[in-house]
Amino acid sequence: MYADVAVCLPLTRTFVYEVTELVEAGSRVIVPFRKREVEGFIVGVRTEAPKDVEVLPVATIIDRSPLIRPDIFELCRWISGYYIAPLGEVLKSSLPPGISAKHVESGLGTGDFGSRISDFGWRESALPTPGSPNPSEIRNPKSPAFVPCLTLTEHQLGAFDAIRSCNGFHTLLLHGVTGSGKSEIYMRAAEHFLAAGKTSLILVPEIGLTPQLTDRFTQRFPGLTAVLHSSLSKRQRIDEWLRIYCGKAPIVIGTRSAVFAPLQNLGLIVVDEEHESSYKQEEVPRYHARDTAIMRAKRSGAVVVLGSATPSMESFRNAESKKYEYVGLTSRVEDRPLPEVEIVNMREEYTAQSKQVVFSRRLLQAVAGRLERREQTMILLNRRGYAAFLLCRHCGFTFQCTSCSVAMTYHRSIDKLLCHYCGLARRPPARCPECDSEYIYYVGEGTERLESELKSLFPDARMGRIDRDTMRHLRDYERVLGGFASGKIDILVGTQMIAKGHDFPRVTLVGVVGADAALSLPDFRAAERTFQLLTQVAGRSGRGDQPGEVVIQSYFPDHYTFQLACTQRFEDFYARESRYRKAMFYPPFTALAGIMVMDRDAGRAATLAREIGEFLDSLRSTAVRILGPAPAPLERIKQVHRHQLLIKSSSRGVLHRMLEQLRAHLEERKIGATRVIVDVDPMSLL
Ligand code: ADP
Ligand code: ZN
Ligand code: ZN
Repeated sequence: MYADVAVCLPLTRTFVYEVTELVEAGSRVIVPFRKREVEGFIVGVRTEAPKDVEVLPVATIIDRSPLIRPDIFELCRWISGYYIAPLGEVLKSSLPPGISAKHVESGLGTGDFGSRISDFGWRESALPTPGSPNPSEIRNPKSPAFVPCLTLTEHQLGAFDAIRSCNGFHTLLLHGVTGSGKSEIYMRAAEHFLAAGKTSLILVPEIGLTPQLTDRFTQRFPGLTAVLHSSLSKRQRIDEWLRIYCGKAPIVIGTRSAVFAPLQNLGLIVVDEEHESSYKQEEVPRYHARDTAIMRAKRSGAVVVLGSATPSMESFRNAESKKYEYVGLTSRVEDRPLPEVEIVNMREEYTAQSKQVVFSRRLLQAVAGRLERREQTMILLNRRGYAAFLLCRHCGFTFQCTSCSVAMTYHRSIDKLLCHYCGLARRPPARCPECDSEYIYYVGEGTERLESELKSLFPDARMGRIDRDTMRHLRDYERVLGGFASGKIDILVGTQMIAKGHDFPRVTLVGVVGADAALSLPDFRAAERTFQLLTQVAGRSGRGDQPGEVVIQSYFPDHYTFQLACTQRFEDFYARESRYRKAMFYPPFTALAGIMVMDRDAGRAATLAREIGEFLDSLRSTAVRILGPAPAPLERIKQVHRHQLLIKSSSRGVLHRMLEQLRAHLEERKIGATRVIVDVDPMSLL
């Protein structure tokens, strides 16, 4: 017998090997490949050997019965096709590293989730739905003890009804303002499907940043929840995966790769904060977990709930065109008002104070008021470190990383200049290396400087800081977030990490410093990202009994993104941004793919990029526009030069065929997926 094997290498084609025993598609094997042995997956079997090629035997069969179930296998095939990604690598990334069939056979047994449900009396139990108009639905007293549900508000109930009335595959966009109680709806939906004997998958952008949702689920469904995220050890991840595989955990919460969780009988997939770019994997395979989740749900007849206070342009467009059902939650729980948003013009501030300042008087006065009233403040600045860069005032020299085309950031706690892209560290020089002048200035501020300035302005205030420098482990988050939640911290400073779905009822002030930086990035999503960030962080304010306030500092206060973030009217932003996207042929109105050519040699990168451009031109498709090649905005990272092409097309099919042809052409020329990256639906163009 012969098997088609997808090797775990950046190659899209498969290879035939001989097998002497019966194997199934999805089984892992080790095969000889170009004088090496590599891991691969059997993706098909055949009885006849292909003609004219030498066929080698498979070296080892790793698992006889595949760990990848047919539905996940098909999902991987879809990813491989849609994202032009090597099937072997997709299949590999669908499994936890280090897992083997032995883990399944030994130990965890085969408890199936069907009997587990009836053990718990879930199936018989009527749904606990306080607030439901149906009085016959009373909670079964025998059902397991769990945290009581909240009585749903009328709006929440409307959303819940929309979910449970779905019959088979359906996608809902749950557009709920911050604090509208989306988590409670997710939990109620999961409970509904559990009672119907179905499983639920809850995807979150990052567990560390939003431990609250995970906690709420594990408390509500004790023993029935599995959690999958990147801070787990290899062993923990395998154990959680096995609990899911064996049907012991019908509810899974996890980050991006949890979209492959081996749940059977799937009823619901929630994608919380669906607009987050961390759902896109920025390495091979470059899949988007939200879109993959929708494909998975489609195949298993499940309901998808995409939740966000600031939906992505893509999802809102799909709701507009009725591909998704739109469900709006326009008010906060208990009708708490949305916070007042004020923009401080930093140019006027400069004139008034006749110097460059980090904080406006308005913001400082607001902070002082909070300290007096023992309320809490969050201050966001999306840059870590102390100073953005070092500048010689005499000759204008700035300190760039020697390996990347970016300025190095000064970190005072370690007294070093750091490159945020490659990690290179250098001592800051006392004199300019170009002109030997002493006039070296620290320009622009980072979170470290914010914290230290606030400390000297408000010496009695208790401060916390959340950024990648202070948060090395999950327990660091827990400590600071826990301290903030229990009132041991008055002012929390941080990067966008603090903007995420936290729920701290005593926060009544949110300050945004340096809001302009994100807006000026050379990326067509810059305005969308900024709007999302501002709305999200503003949403942290006024979640309790006291109304909230937001102060945004900007040098461009008239920009529509800031103006519309003030009113938090997403629809207005969408309309405005749509005009720009349509005019410029950008998603969601055009399908987009990015091609990044990488080489340590600048000339070679440029040449290959030009050749790719010529090849694409030779395909002579009228339905596409090709931009570039041009050096990427970050021309060099870790000594690798980067040249970029963008392909836009009104037809996804045309774009797709073009990319497939390109990949085949490159493979013929033995140019691998590590030198030329094809990114379908790219989230970042830097
Ligand atoms: P979102 O995720 O939409 O920003 P959350 O789900 O975090 O909002 O809910 C905001 C707050 O409102 C939480 O403290 C939550 O416990 C509370 N809450 C949610 N639903 C209800 C309800 N039906 N009744 C009372 N409080 C609720
Ligand atoms: Zn100089
Ligand atoms: Zn660098």
